[in-house]
Amino acid sequence: MRTVYFDNNATTKVADEVAEEVGPLFCELYGNPSSMHTFGGQISRRIRQAREQVAGLLGCEPSEIIFTSGGTESDNAAIKGTLAAAPNKRKIITSRVEHPAVLTVCRELENHGYTVVELAVDKQGRFDLRQLEEQIDDNTALVTIMYANNETGVTFPIDELAELVTGRNVVFHTDAVQAIGKIPLNLSKSNIDLLSLSGHKLHAPKGVGVLYVRKGTRLSPFMLGGHQEAGRRAGTENVPGIVGLGKACELAAKNIEQESSRIRYLRDKLENAILEKCPDSRINGDKENRLPNTTNISFEYIEGEAILLMLDKHGICASSGSACTSGSLEPSHVLRAMGVPFTAAHGSIRFSLSRYNTEEEVDYTIEKMPAIINRLRELSPFVANK
Ligand code: PLP
Repeated sequence: MRTVYFDNNATTKVADEVAEEVGPLFCELYGNPSSMHTFGGQISRRIRQAREQVAGLLGCEPSEIIFTSGGTESDNAAIKGTLAAAPNKRKIITSRVEHPAVLTVCRELENHGYTVVELAVDKQGRFDLRQLEEQIDDNTALVTIMYANNETGVTFPIDELAELVTGRNVVFHTDAVQAIGKIPLNLSKSNIDLLSLSGHKLHAPKGVGVLYVRKGTRLSPFMLGGHQEAGRRAGTENVPGIVGLGKACELAAKNIEQESSRIRYLRDKLENAILEKCPDSRINGDKENRLPNTTNISFEYIEGEAILLMLDKHGICASSGSACTSGSLEPSHVLRAMGVPFTAAHGSIRFSLSRYNTEEEVDYTIEKMPAIINRLRELSPFVANK
């Protein structure tokens, strides 16, 4: 059966160019970059090159890049490293719609005496900037707000938020895992202090990421041990991952404008056709400020999991906004924070596209969706009781 992969916010295909670059690093160029000999030395040159490629995409200095094991580690390192470097401050400001890699860490820190403020979003998933301004005080160590939401694709005015924090002796971190490679970003023109990214969301391998640390930002190392990454992140480097991430960033930097407009066209075609052909469906999130590849659509009175299973029968991969935990379907914390009604939050589906999707795949999905939704509505007890 064919596979139509519309789950690129979960993970992406490794680009062929990346796989080609990484291949020889397993069995031929396998030296340790910390070794004194020439064999290892050539590997450290590859890491240096990758650092430059990542810095090129982000618009920062190569020395401001720390390689990590992925988005989760970068978020943990940013939050815990900032707090450790500011022991007299006990307050963190974040949002209700963060990824668990941020939210779970913050909530755990509450158990250790920190005050955590989770800023609210409106029905479209947007922030009111004044909320942040009101919350910053002398006790605030860190503001951590995501660049783009993984479930809805809604993007936040990160440069403006970072600017608000500037001069207040507070560190500003953004989880940009879903934004990097999808929308252009230039750190040399922003006041962001720390930024997380993850390789597997932009066609690099899994298990590699970056924490950008603006020069002069106070941050205690999260991993202790060897002297790798200039003493800022111990542990022998994931060389294939790092080299692959460098190549993926180079590709993204070269093609981002052209690719994002093509992906936006495909996403809009898919979204508009579904809204038109499937009654009682609606978009979750701010359509104006959104990643070009993501659409989150609610179908009233049916369950997301059931839609996913039926899509899966046609080889179409998407994801749903609710997680089936211990027999009860919990709607996503993001949709709940946006006040999406229960009946709509349960029936939400995320389609997330990439450069590898085709118009033919979009047409195929448009053809299948109405019959799936109609069939599930026929079976739905909610519709019967409507
Ligand atoms: N932050 C966001 C917004 C994400 O979407 C994800 C992954 O889905 C992560 C962090 C975690 O990244 P990783 O899978 O590299 O640990």
